[in-house]
Amino acid sequence: MHQLQSKLQKDGDFLSLSRENEWSIPQPFSFIVTHQASQQQSKVSVIDTGLIVFEPLEKNTTKDIVLSSAVHGNETAPIEICADLIQQLILGKLFLAERVLFIFGNPASINISQRFVEENMNRLFSGGHSKDQGHGEGLINKERHRALLLENTVRGFFQTGSELSANRERSHYDLHTAIRGSKNDKFAVYPFRHGKAWKKEQLQFLYSCGINTILLSHSPTTTFSYFSSNEFGADAFTVELGKVKPFGENDMSQFQQVKDTLTSFISGKDLFLKPFDENDFSIFEIYQTINRHGENFVLNFSDDVDNFTDFPVGPVLATDDDVEIIVKKEGEAIIFPNAEVAIGQRALLTVVPTTID
Ligand SMILES: [Zn+2]
Repeated sequence: MHQLQSKLQKDGDFLSLSRENEWSIPQPFSFIVTHQASQQQSKVSVIDTGLIVFEPLEKNTTKDIVLSSAVHGNETAPIEICADLIQQLILGKLFLAERVLFIFGNPASINISQRFVEENMNRLFSGGHSKDQGHGEGLINKERHRALLLENTVRGFFQTGSELSANRERSHYDLHTAIRGSKNDKFAVYPFRHGKAWKKEQLQFLYSCGINTILLSHSPTTTFSYFSSNEFGADAFTVELGKVKPFGENDMSQFQQVKDTLTSFISGKDLFLKPFDENDFSIFEIYQTINRHGENFVLNFSDDVDNFTDFPVGPVLATDDDVEIIVKKEGEAIIFPNAEVAIGQRALLTVVPTTID
């Protein structure tokens, strides 16, 4: 334990610590770091592998910020962004203004460069970890245990914040990259808000991150971002930052805006958000959710069709045994197609343009 801590304090490399301890560390630990320029002190708490909290010690805070990555282990760009922010904080190079919880969701899947080991974690939140369990004792795989741990960690983090002061701003940006390319390179899924208004200032924040395509969700899901939004009232998003690439092959200049904005956000700098203008955004809502029912599920478009590609009304998008799935509405576009999913799971979404007013 002492060794883990002294190495981390020296090199700030929390990503390596997490990868070398795939599912757990022997015990939690904490230490104090001093920001070099201001001499302000912060407490660093390593809760478990991939779970680290930073809290300013001599400064009142108003925000509780969760930044998660590696819920899908092969989505490297956001992992690199977060690893660098964590390192700068530990080494005293970045000023910390607010409470921040960083999460590397699934370190074991980072190590095998796969989305997941046994099960897609972004289907396991809001109790998803305990569904379809069969008759066995306990949760049936490590990813289910990990999803439960992530839920409890986020809950504890927000609760501790609310003990410090009232009316705090909670946010959770769950950072991903997509399997396929996208016509709209970066986009964010805004989880279902159960009728509450969509927040324009949040869209302005995303715009500052270089994201101008927003997908509004109209039903509860088992994603991590919906969990934080629904259970804790956090401003939460699933943020897709371009296409999956191996470590070291990301063109990090493509992620400069998101990195700069997140850096300013956690260090309390003015974000200079551009006033909201609907013309800056492409906003979509889900139109058809197509689950695979049959043995023979075939997509009638090629593998390299980008997310958000639209189709004219009429053609058959997919066949599910003898059922044809047809484009029904002007501007209808496809996202997240995957013909290989298990029977009963989602194989394709279609979306249509909308507005938030
Ligand atoms: Zn992902």
